[in-house]
Amino acid sequence: MSRHFDPFRQASTGWIFHCDADSFYASCHIAENAALRDRPVVVAGDPKSRHGIIVTANYVARGLGIRTGMNLDAARQLCPQLVAIRPDKALYRRYSQSMQDIFSQYGAHLEPLSLDEAWIDMTELMSFDDDPLPLAEELQMRVRNMVGISVSIGVSINKMLAKQVSDWSKPEGITLLRKQEIPDKLWPRPVSELFGCGPVTAQKMAALGIMTIGDLAKQNVADVMHRFGWHGLALRLRATGDDNSPVVNPKPEDRRSVSAEHTAAYDMVNAEDILGLIGQCAEEVSRHLDQLGLVGYRLGIKWRTRDFVTHTRQIASYGALHRVEDIFRLASRLWLESGEKQAIRLAGVSVSRLEHPSFQLRFWNY
Ligand SMILES: [Mg+2]
Repeated sequence: MSRHFDPFRQASTGWIFHCDADSFYASCHIAENAALRDRPVVVAGDPKSRHGIIVTANYVARGLGIRTGMNLDAARQLCPQLVAIRPDKALYRRYSQSMQDIFSQYGAHLEPLSLDEAWIDMTELMSFDDDPLPLAEELQMRVRNMVGISVSIGVSINKMLAKQVSDWSKPEGITLLRKQEIPDKLWPRPVSELFGCGPVTAQKMAALGIMTIGDLAKQNVADVMHRFGWHGLALRLRATGDDNSPVVNPKPEDRRSVSAEHTAAYDMVNAEDILGLIGQCAEEVSRHLDQLGLVGYRLGIKWRTRDFVTHTRQIASYGALHRVEDIFRLASRLWLESGEKQAIRLAGVSVSRLEHPSFQLRFWNY
């Protein structure tokens, strides 16, 4: 997101929607099996283990006190009739795609934020003079009828505000925030609710007496910039409804990672051989990143043992990765730390969290 932040960008001339599916994972399973509809349903890490952690709970379960993050054992004590389902990523991707197919019929600009959330720029369909509610209701109904799940929609004058308000009336809510309503409706809320305001920033702000979004909105821009840098400026603009970041279609060439992998000619046990294979992958990844003109901030390795089990490890990098030395150093460290003793037959290296070096301003690392 930092890539698209431009404080001097012109404001949108029409409404921006943020659509967010309600208890998405649970909703997908319920859409598949109508018998679950009125029952308390959770998706949990490992339903067979009593300690599986609840990832999502439908609203029936939430009504009984079940919360995300609870362990299954505790949840079953609260609610013995609880239905626990194992996550099914392929199912979620399928529903996500169907939902986005519907969204894409509305706006030329559609920006998915995660599997179950997306922004749609409605500027080409309507201006601020038009009432956006009938369109939001129609969109909500089409997703319910065609995909079988409910979404909540936030409607506002820009992306950040639309995202901010989409969960104000869940499930199956529509919340409209007009520019003139910002002081009454947005400003009394805690500053930590602003998109991009993490706990550390919220704490620093609290120390300066900035508790609500309104407190931040009333701060002098230069002061905020001085204390919190560009990240602070972005938050300050969000507080007044002036963050005009555009809704950006992900381009097909928007890569999420660059990777290389090699299968060994024989089962490798010797550390030197294995590091050689990793080095070969690191070289290819480095070359590819340079060709694309990208750097990355996350490194991953994978290896496959003789029993065909694939293992992975990842690590964040504070420095921008593209040079072969840096990639190899981190990759070999990850490998050595894994303590793998078995023979391996494949190794791979990947670099993700890619950015253009010209956008290296690190908004989120204060
Ligand atoms: Mg959601």
